[in-house]
Amino acid sequence: MKPILYIVIPCYNEQEVLPVTAPMFLQKINDLYIEGKISEHSRILFVNDGSKDRTWSIITELSQLDEHYCGISLSRNRGHQNALLAGLMEAKNKCDISVSVDCDGQDDIDAIDKMIDEYLSGSDIVYGVRSDRKTDTAFKRGTAQFFYKLMRGMGVDMVYNHADYRLMSKRALEGLSQFEEVNLFLRGLVPMVGFKYSCVEYSRKERLAGKSKYPLKKMLSFAIDGITSLSVKPIRLITAVGFIVAILSVIGIIWSVVTRLVTGHTGGWASTISIICFLGGVQLLSLGVIGEYIGKIYLEVKRRPRFIIDKKTDDIK
Ligand code: UDP
Ligand code: MG
Repeated sequence: MKPILYIVIPCYNEQEVLPVTAPMFLQKINDLYIEGKISEHSRILFVNDGSKDRTWSIITELSQLDEHYCGISLSRNRGHQNALLAGLMEAKNKCDISVSVDCDGQDDIDAIDKMIDEYLSGSDIVYGVRSDRKTDTAFKRGTAQFFYKLMRGMGVDMVYNHADYRLMSKRALEGLSQFEEVNLFLRGLVPMVGFKYSCVEYSRKERLAGKSKYPLKKMLSFAIDGITSLSVKPIRLITAVGFIVAILSVIGIIWSVVTRLVTGHTGGWASTISIICFLGGVQLLSLGVIGEYIGKIYLEVKRRPRFIIDKKTDDIK
């Protein structure tokens, strides 16, 4: 039996690029089928993440055009990670393998062939890894590199230069479904699922049309989310900083006592104020970091749904 492949594609306001890339995905499915690598029941599953433009009507039109296209629509915009999870969970019961990929054509879909080869030789998870970052701006490249290093430093097991382009077997998807956290950071979560994995290199291109949905502000909050949902190192760091500051102030106290004894008077107010300000800053920052974790706990204990499906193309057909 040939494996059933589901290509899972989150889409948010992608009316410009979808008509360009959808036929490319279909071509890929057809080629793989002709080569005898996948089953004819393989599908391209679009997840409409509460788009405000024509994205969903394009998806329904596509599904009527060719049975290989299908889609689900979320009840509102939930962000890339949640949309992707919704798609993967939808695919889980229908497929043998899933490949998640963005809809903007940046990720070279020819890497899917190699991913399937890796799957056939026993890997449950295959990570798509960017071979270079030539198409990125120097700024994006620099910040991305810093981010991966920071995550490593925080003890988060993450595959270097891997975004959310990856193959997961049914078994791996079932494993992922057992992680019930609301704060999603799939790149850090998937390695925790375990199983045998491998990497496939690909080169990332420019977006074929439309604009990036990840401006700097979103990138930053994504990075902070990633760190705080996977590591408690920042809290430990606070303890370390507190410890160092305490030692420094003991030294300061000894120093002022000694100067008082030697010279007969102690130093002026400037040093006192700067130490107070410094400590005030450290304390506020620490409260902020702890608050970030408490906020996360707050959101987790509510157990709110991670996504709600509004419509499916299967119901329209
Ligand atoms: N996306 C989504 N929901 C969002 C933002 C983005 O489903 O709220 C999708 C988007 O349609 C695309 C993918 O996530 O398929 C990656 O987004 P984008 O290409 O804008 O990010 P970049 O490649 O610039 O990091
Ligand atoms: Mg993109």
